[in-house]
Amino acid sequence: MAELPDQAQVVIIGGGIVGASIAYHLGKLGVSDVLLLERDRYTCGTTWHAAGLVGQLRATENLTRLCRYSLELYSMLEAETGQATGFRQPGAISLATTAERFHELRRTAAVADHLGIEAEVLTPAEAHGLWPRMEIGDVVGAVHLPKDGMVSPVDVTMALLAGARQFGVTTLQRMPVEGLLVEGGRVAGVTTHQGNIRAESVVLAGGMWSRDFAARYGVPLPLHAAEHYYAITQPIEGLSEDTPILRDPNHCAYFKEDARRLLVGLFEPVARPWAMDGIPDVSFAEIPANLDHVTPLLEQAYRRLPFLHDVELRQLFCGPESFTPDDNFILGEAPTLPGLFVAAGFNSIGIQAAGGVGKALAEWIVEGEATMDLAEVDIRRFEPFHAGRRFLAHRTVETLGLLYGMHWPFRQYDTARGVKQSPFHARLADRGACFGETAGWERPNFYAPEGEKAEYRYSYARQNFFPWTAEEHRATREGVGLYDQTSYAKFLLQGRDAETVLQRLSAADMATPVGKVVYTQWLNASGGIEADLTVTRIEEESFLVVTTAATRFRDFHYLKASIGDARAFLTDITSGLATLGIMGPGSRDFLSRLTSADLSNESFPFATSQEIELGYGIIRAMRITYVGELGWELYIPTEFALHVFDEITREGGAHELRFCGFHAMASCRLEKGYRHWGHDIGPEDSPIEAGLGFAVGWDKDADFVGREAIEAQRKRGPAKRLLQFQIHDPEVMLYHDEPIYRDGERVGLTTSGGWGHTLGAAVALGYARGEPGCLDGDWIRSGEWEIEVTGKRYPASASLRAGYDPRSQRVRS
Ligand SMILES: Cc1cc2nc3c(=O)[nH]c(=O)nc-3n(C[C@H](O)[C@H](O)[C@H](O)COP(=O)(O)OP(=O)(O)OC[C@H]3O[C@@H](n4cnc5c(N)ncnc54)[C@H](O)[C@@H]3O)c2cc1C
Repeated sequence: MAELPDQAQVVIIGGGIVGASIAYHLGKLGVSDVLLLERDRYTCGTTWHAAGLVGQLRATENLTRLCRYSLELYSMLEAETGQATGFRQPGAISLATTAERFHELRRTAAVADHLGIEAEVLTPAEAHGLWPRMEIGDVVGAVHLPKDGMVSPVDVTMALLAGARQFGVTTLQRMPVEGLLVEGGRVAGVTTHQGNIRAESVVLAGGMWSRDFAARYGVPLPLHAAEHYYAITQPIEGLSEDTPILRDPNHCAYFKEDARRLLVGLFEPVARPWAMDGIPDVSFAEIPANLDHVTPLLEQAYRRLPFLHDVELRQLFCGPESFTPDDNFILGEAPTLPGLFVAAGFNSIGIQAAGGVGKALAEWIVEGEATMDLAEVDIRRFEPFHAGRRFLAHRTVETLGLLYGMHWPFRQYDTARGVKQSPFHARLADRGACFGETAGWERPNFYAPEGEKAEYRYSYARQNFFPWTAEEHRATREGVGLYDQTSYAKFLLQGRDAETVLQRLSAADMATPVGKVVYTQWLNASGGIEADLTVTRIEEESFLVVTTAATRFRDFHYLKASIGDARAFLTDITSGLATLGIMGPGSRDFLSRLTSADLSNESFPFATSQEIELGYGIIRAMRITYVGELGWELYIPTEFALHVFDEITREGGAHELRFCGFHAMASCRLEKGYRHWGHDIGPEDSPIEAGLGFAVGWDKDADFVGREAIEAQRKRGPAKRLLQFQIHDPEVMLYHDEPIYRDGERVGLTTSGGWGHTLGAAVALGYARGEPGCLDGDWIRSGEWEIEVTGKRYPASASLRAGYDPRSQRVRS
């Protein structure tokens, strides 16, 4: 056994497949001073009992890129390391037994095709041809991914470890890490019973143990173990190795050939969280199966393959796996403890993700920032409450089953709700609000009219709220709408160097007068957009930063980390300010009746902010909008919130103030072409590509992060442009990830979509790629544009400018 060194560049905690892959990829990148420490024996956590499916397709392009890479890696790992991996590529079939599921599958097949993953849509008969022993009476259609694969998880882990060692990495088992060394607010190494090991970076890949381990150092890691089941039959005659993996999501089951036996895996809709009081110190754990829980699901599975009734079961297995509140894993550097990187919470796709995850995290450690857009799995998307035991236990009941559930547009969680409520919550509920959840906030998404239930009826077509949202949208465009925007995150940056800090971070010029609201992006060194927000100078040395609810933790820590030694102090004041948007052409007249402040264009121009009196309250009004109309956001100290609300709605009762939800806001912002971080813009998109060059302070005196990269891009021209698309067909609904074609050639995917109630069209934003420097107005105008939805292409108009009020006259009216 290798000796325990007293220092290493990187220490990896955990010898499951994920830790092994990170070690392998660090080694491959030339970082050989790496030490991987496993508590007991390699793979003894969750990896040893995984079924070993390696699918290529995930819900989004970037996660698909990771999983696809895993498959490629596993296909050549045996040749590279000499270690068997059990890699096979029998392909996979996903069945649809409802029209809606078939719709969903065909949408994913289109994304697969776009990403170069072979995918074919099958009739029930064709699917039957590939899996002749299955029952297809209820099958509507299927999608076949001929290159999907499977591996032996233990063998792949051993191969990755062997590969890592070939690159010079040291790996040790039966060496538990007892704790972290923390110095000066960052990780300095790990402690073991054999001594301390100093390290520049530590990677926590400790599987289900990671939450409690990280909690000891104030790092919230929201993952919770749950029971996860499969059954294995006795050998079945004639069952060939080439039998495709079969998924039957409507019936919560998958089937996989396993050494001539069949493995029947389950994704039950109501899961059973495990080890609520903490994960025990066990290895190769097996949980006693709860027969009452799984028998109905197995019976359902057997209806797909009736011949299984005649086959004896060899084993009913139940093992623990970690689940996160949103079914995506947790990756990246802990914002509250620099130097600690995390890769955990794999929601039953850790085998298929591990290859890509190892590469992505190794690059992140080496480069100092992520080398691809990983926002959807980034550790910073979670807030501390997400890691609460009770929250996790309740949410985990739902998340396991969601993997095979319908991924409806706008689907809301049923569990762990009501976490954060604005002061207006009860009043909005009385008005018929149907709430959706974002970052724990209950936000009104739409208002049901009297006599209708405030609830979703999901569909890929127009959903029940469509006409109600249309009315809210119309009120915003023609009258006055009230939006509860309390969930917006608000930070105060104060101090002598506050401007300097913001100048360095912001692409826009922050040397502004008091009262100016600046819309800006914060960029990474490559010019990609890390944050999209507004900053208002409210005093000479005090700035109010407003960003979205979903990026609160991320943006706060991004700003905090950039302060360094500067004299500036950052405070999260989200809880102190409730926010109401009063939006629409009638908003000036409406508010003028409530305040003595002069709201005229001269006294209160667009993109400025003032304190005004409203009722008995002194509140901050900000003339800014996300719906593309004249309007003010009102930032109200929480203790005044209900008073101000009642003043406003009393007035509104008489003057037709319409309560509006976030779906109306989304419809308005899409028409106006306002971007949404996380969908339309992110770390891999520059302001130039995103059409946000107008928000960059090209002439500003101060240097800012990403400047060099975007100036270079400006010279050579971008290789992709964000366009707005419209389809005037009442049957078409756009959401995101629909393929975009120019002159019959696929050039991109939509990034967000919805119905534009004023334009009377399905509207989407999306990037089109082409020759750098050539993607100008002529290129756009001369193309024939189409968007594909479930295999059918629809003619679309494409434009760099917004279809609604492109000159922003209404906003400045
Ligand atoms: C029944 C079942 C079927 C599954 N099927 C599939 C599938 O088909 N495809 C798929 O992609 N995924 C599948 N999964 C999920 C997959 O098994 C996991 O996502 C994956 O194994 C997670 O790997 P990991 O390395 O993160 O965790 P683990 O394998 O649990 O590894 C973590 C390691 O860290 C070690 N450790 C913890 N604390 C310390 C410490 N303090 N010091 C040192 N070491 C420590 C542990 O001992 C452990 O070995 C399945 C899971 C289950 C339960």
